[in-house]
Amino acid sequence: MEDTLATNPLLDFSGLPRFADVRPEHVAPAVRSLLEDYRMLIDQLTRDAAQPTWDSFIVPMTEAGERVGRAWGVVGHLHSVMDLPEWREAYNAMLPEVSRFYAELGQNLALFHKYKALHDSPEYATLSPVRQRILDHEVRDFRLSGAELPDALKPRFQAIQEALSQLGAKFSENLLDATNAHAEWIEAEADLSGIPDDARSAARAAAEKDSKPGWKFTLQMPSYLPVMQYADNRALRERMYRAYATRASEFGKAEWDNGPLIGRILALRQEESRMLGYRSFAEVSLVPKMADSPEQVLGFLRELAAKAKPFAVRDLEELRAFAAAELGLDDLQPWDVSYAAEKLRQARYDYSDQEVKQYFPEPKVLDGLFGVIRALYGVDILPDEAPRWDPDTRFYRIEKNGDLVGHFYLDLHARETKRGGAWMDSARSRYRGTQGSTTPVAYLVCNFPGPVDGKPATFSHDDVLTLFHEAGHGLHHLLTRIEELAVSGIHGVEWDAVELPSQFMENFCWEWDVLCGMTAHVDTGEPLPRSLYDKMIAAKNFQSGMQTVRQLEFSMFDLRLHDEVQPDSNAAEASVAIDKVMGLLDEVRQEVAVLIPPAWHRFPNSFSHIFAGGYAAGYYSYKWAEVLSADAFEAFEEAGAGKGSLLDAETGARFWREILAVGGSRPALESFKAFRGREPRVDALLRHNGMVTA
Ligand SMILES: [Zn+2]
Repeated sequence: MEDTLATNPLLDFSGLPRFADVRPEHVAPAVRSLLEDYRMLIDQLTRDAAQPTWDSFIVPMTEAGERVGRAWGVVGHLHSVMDLPEWREAYNAMLPEVSRFYAELGQNLALFHKYKALHDSPEYATLSPVRQRILDHEVRDFRLSGAELPDALKPRFQAIQEALSQLGAKFSENLLDATNAHAEWIEAEADLSGIPDDARSAARAAAEKDSKPGWKFTLQMPSYLPVMQYADNRALRERMYRAYATRASEFGKAEWDNGPLIGRILALRQEESRMLGYRSFAEVSLVPKMADSPEQVLGFLRELAAKAKPFAVRDLEELRAFAAAELGLDDLQPWDVSYAAEKLRQARYDYSDQEVKQYFPEPKVLDGLFGVIRALYGVDILPDEAPRWDPDTRFYRIEKNGDLVGHFYLDLHARETKRGGAWMDSARSRYRGTQGSTTPVAYLVCNFPGPVDGKPATFSHDDVLTLFHEAGHGLHHLLTRIEELAVSGIHGVEWDAVELPSQFMENFCWEWDVLCGMTAHVDTGEPLPRSLYDKMIAAKNFQSGMQTVRQLEFSMFDLRLHDEVQPDSNAAEASVAIDKVMGLLDEVRQEVAVLIPPAWHRFPNSFSHIFAGGYAAGYYSYKWAEVLSADAFEAFEEAGAGKGSLLDAETGARFWREILAVGGSRPALESFKAFRGREPRVDALLRHNGMVTA
């Protein structure tokens, strides 16, 4: 039968995605026709001389965008979970067109003027606070991408954007090339002492691939890490450490040196920020985030550092004493730290992941997760039917007192055609449009081992944490009560607050009472023994002081680098000298670190998160979200203290109402305060990580 647009399942928005019908050849015609419709709409709206109103401008824009997002979302989802050649081809064929469309949308000045006209019109004052917020954000995003600059400055702004994206790409390439270029060759088997068999086999295979005898170790994590953790050969550890720490620096090939790139990136970010009217790039980065100012973030990091540092000092003393007494390492060097820490961990807290896994069969874990959700929010999670992309996936509906709240697909097991990792994505969002209301639908995707020989799959504790984490994102998406698309569920939530609901859920996987209810040994049915649980907790908190100050060092360096360091001139080709960068890092380390690396260490040259990723002046958000989620969880601990269970329905209802339900419709800090009754505090996180002063 001939396919037409009328029968194209990707263009059917009446219900759930039609996974049974959609085929790769539907992608291009559907996506092109949706983009075309959207383009024509924008053209018509921007040419219309009449004053834009919410109903005449925002509503049609939102609905056209929703259709593209929903159809393209199905394609992206299938590309991720069913990466067959024909799906990959269909996806990649349209990806450039879709990316270009959105890039143009963000640069469309006529569109910006329409948003601005509505924002500045008398209608604005009559809109709900939620709608006002949506308009504020639209105007803000255009402004931050240079839309309000005088025409004379626009070409320079555009050139900076392009230069920055090229410099970021080059930074990654240099790092990759430098990482791949180094190898350590081992010829005598005795030199492999301590290295586990799987790492040896991989090193042997790598040497064979190069038609050489012996073993080849590289700077890629799966090869590097076992050497640093297990190799008894101290000289080998030192050589590997030095090679790793000086990647893409002036000590290697000049063409791979990221030092000059760092200088240019910082200078260009500074210039861009000035053009937009800000003092520093850190200020620009924080505009759409939950944190208000660089000073506030710095204050937060300093408070955490002051509280964590004594524990880090104690961790290091413990490690030094152990290394001297048990390993004969009297002068603990940086290349001994992972090695000694691993030996100390084994001596104090060892348990086998295999042993733990026996207690987490999949059906029990899912029951446990659903039970936690039911207890907290009073909702029912029921199996339901819908077309799916693979028979090994499930579909559920969530109901509250018999009313449909939303649906989710669950795709737990690894498959050859599935992208690695775990994620939550939206198949449909809650919103009320001209066609009525839609309920939200989520995808929860993981890559856990599947059932073997008719026995249920068993999960590691890490897998269980991952499942709860993604379920937390899912609940944020599904339990929203907001019906404006731009801020419903996870839409419009500040970037540094979006991990709050997900990390929050992880906390339950460390609670004894919760674990008792969701563990059953695959053979005996016994719940997790208390002795094993105690070891898991001890291992979780092992050296948490040192780990915390390390994260704080990176966060503080990133923030101050983008707030304080100035280029050497105002010329177009200005740069920041690498000495200044290293000098600042040194200052930060003196303040927060307990381990100071050697002077030749070039950490910034491989800090891809901030020079080649989206984390510039945003690295702090990891700790920020951990603090928020731990502090939110503490409310359940407090409520449970008197009642015997922290699965407290009253606190759950409040968490739903103040945090999950409101999505991005108000500032995350306001939501947090509405839930907790006060500003966030760092103490719960410290306590959860075992950093408690007796
Ligand atoms: Zn997450």
